[in-house]
Amino acid sequence: MEINKFYIDGKFVDPDGSEKIDIVNPATEEVVGYVISGSNKDVDFAVEAANKAFPEVMALTLDQRKKILEEILEGMEERREDFAQIISEEMGSPITMARRAQYGSGTIHFKNTLSIIDRFDFQEVHGNITINKLPIGPVGMITPWNWPLNQMCTKVASAIAAGTTFVIKPSEITPGAAHILAEVIDKTSMPKGMFNLVHGHGITVGKAMSSHPDLEMISFTGSTRAGIDIQKNAADNIKRVSLELGGKSPNILLEDVDLENAVTMGMKQCFLNTGQSCSSPTRMLLPEHMLDEASKYAVAAASDMSMGNPLDEDIYLGPISNRTQYEKVQDLIQKGIDEGATLACGGTGRPDGLEKGFFVKPTVFTNVDNKMTIAREEIFGPVICLIPYSNIDQAIKIANDSAYGLSSMISCSDEVKGQEIAKKIRTGQVILNRISRGDYPAPFGGFKMSGNGREHGLFGIDEYLEVQAVIT
Ligand code: NAD
Repeated sequence: MEINKFYIDGKFVDPDGSEKIDIVNPATEEVVGYVISGSNKDVDFAVEAANKAFPEVMALTLDQRKKILEEILEGMEERREDFAQIISEEMGSPITMARRAQYGSGTIHFKNTLSIIDRFDFQEVHGNITINKLPIGPVGMITPWNWPLNQMCTKVASAIAAGTTFVIKPSEITPGAAHILAEVIDKTSMPKGMFNLVHGHGITVGKAMSSHPDLEMISFTGSTRAGIDIQKNAADNIKRVSLELGGKSPNILLEDVDLENAVTMGMKQCFLNTGQSCSSPTRMLLPEHMLDEASKYAVAAASDMSMGNPLDEDIYLGPISNRTQYEKVQDLIQKGIDEGATLACGGTGRPDGLEKGFFVKPTVFTNVDNKMTIAREEIFGPVICLIPYSNIDQAIKIANDSAYGLSSMISCSDEVKGQEIAKKIRTGQVILNRISRGDYPAPFGGFKMSGNGREHGLFGIDEYLEVQAVIT
């Protein structure tokens, strides 16, 4: 796709910036398009449009906001295959997974927001005090490449529900889904200037947004490194900064589980999206006497996952999304070997038969010490660490011994016990004995260096509101 227009003030416009960023298909390493990187002026135009539209947008009724959400959902359904194809081409997502999970995780946020919006209290009265929850004002949104539609749509749906305007900058690696979303939004009744889209590099366009004096908030999803930078750049005008960052999520398997099932489920969840999810359960914690048996099941699960051309409908694992990330994953696998973890399968280099493309061998490390680099740093590829523990207190200690605190999994036969353990785990989400998150829009966000925001559903709307007390 050749993206040479931005969407500002309700129309597609020529950008001021002119630098072309190549879009590379990670399965073939071929350039398949480009996106123009914006200038500071482009950010100024978009922020100006978002400010100009704010009075009209904050006055939208609940019914008008619901109508916009419904119209977007309808428009997205018509473009389903376009979204799936572009996500697959730009980030190597296996096409079946792109159609279901990548596309579905985008639309679910509009559906969920519509399902809970009537329950949200935009006003509360306590005696002589009226509490108004008012839209915060123009928001800057910056999103990553690994779930391009999901991360954009959770922010967009909640901001529409809250009644605010925004400027969004998607990842320069996967700009296509955002461009299609703008085409969808262009056909809705959304007021001009509510949704503005600029493209470009993080260090230029992203920085211009985070330091912009006329944005009231930045909602960011991406790496912890960039999150720290954004928070510093946003400090001068006391912007609210909501951060959804990286993770190194533990998956604690208790002694009483069906080991084969629990290991296979943990592997599937860890290697979903070719291991490129912030909440991937990358540290599997096992009773030490079960480690060898678990390792066999993990290797079997890895070899069952087919890898190859993302357009093949039977593929489970695609390539890593870009060269930088591919090289980082290779380096970390080598580090795991150098630091003494046992390589049960996989390793460095490309899998047999895949000489082109950023393909990484599905890799299982066992006997991993939680102090090793592979247990501490986010790898973001199909790589898992099996870590032994001697008792449940030690397992909880290892789970919490991380700079991150995004998500965790617990597999056990006694759910009451699982709930008790959950309260001791320092992560924003704990998934008990299941893979999917279910229908209710559970709040999503991290403890510690995984961030400070909460997205989805009722909590997601709250992010974009200011609290005002009127005292009579
Ligand atoms: P990244 O931080 O490099 O880039 C994310 C976005 O930020 C891109 O749009 C990029 O252009 C922009 N950016 C980069 N540096 C910036 C800066 N200094 N100022 C402003 N903007 C900047 O991350 P990535 O490599 O695209 O994505 C992978 C990371 O995202 C992983 O660490 C992953 O865990 C994290 N992630 C977190 C969540 C979550 O909800 N917690 C979800 C998905 C991904």
